[in-house]
Amino acid sequence: MEEMRKIKAVTGLLLGCILFLALYSLWDVQAMSPQLQVLPLYGKVIGVDPGHGGYDGGCVSVTGVAEKEYNLAVALLVGEEIRALGGTPVFTRETDKALIDPKKTTGYKKRKELDNRIALLQEAHVDALVSIHMNNYTVSKYRGAQLFYRADSAEGEQLALCLQEALAGLEEAHLREPSCGDYYILNACDAALLVECGFLSNPEEEKLLSSPDYRQRLAEAVASGLAAYFAPQPAQEAAGGEK
Ligand SMILES: [Zn+2]
Repeated sequence: MEEMRKIKAVTGLLLGCILFLALYSLWDVQAMSPQLQVLPLYGKVIGVDPGHGGYDGGCVSVTGVAEKEYNLAVALLVGEEIRALGGTPVFTRETDKALIDPKKTTGYKKRKELDNRIALLQEAHVDALVSIHMNNYTVSKYRGAQLFYRADSAEGEQLALCLQEALAGLEEAHLREPSCGDYYILNACDAALLVECGFLSNPEEEKLLSSPDYRQRLAEAVASGLAAYFAPQPAQEAAGGEK
C-alpha cells in the first residue's frame, strides 16, 4: 500500500508539472501574439516558387549560369522578407531540385513537375503566390523586370499593381508594364504572380541580378508589395472585412 501511495504522489506531481508547463507556454504565446499581429503579413501563407530546378535549368545567362540558380537565390531572400513581415513562406523548393524524378517520369515532364508544385501550394492553402523567374531573349539589348498575372484573375491583377508600385522604387529594375501571362503555375491560386526579375541575356542586367545588394532590395520590394496587397482598405476596415 505504501508503494502505491508513492506512485500516486509521483504521478500527481508529474501531471502537475506538465499542466504548469502547458499553461505557461500558452500564456507565453498569448503574450507574444499582439506584437506578431501588427506585422503586415501576420497570418498569411505565401507561396514562393523558385522557377525550374534540378534537371531543368531554365534559361542560361550570358556568362553561362543557369536561371534556376538566380531564381533560388532571390526566392530564398523573398521568403526571409516575408517572414520578417510576419508571414509564412511556403517554398516549392529550397534546394537545386525538381519535383519529379525525370528518369522515372514518362510523358510531359514539365507539366507533371508543375502539377506537383501546384499540389504542394494548394495543400498549404497559400493566400498568394510569387513565382520567381529570370527572362532571356535572343537580342541582348532587351531588359527590365515584368510581372505577369492570370488573365481571369482580378486578385492576380490587383497583386500585380501592388508589386508594381513597390518595385517602382528600384530604379535599376527598368520596370515594364504588368501583363497577363499564360503561365501554368499561376493556376495555383488566384492572387498569383510570375515575377520576371530581369533579362539574363542582357550583360548589365545579369550583373545587377548577381549583386547581393540588389537581390536583397528586390526581395524587400516584393515582400512590401505583398504587404500592400493584404493591407486592409479603409472601406474594408470599417466593414470589418478582410482579404
Ligand atoms: Zn524561367
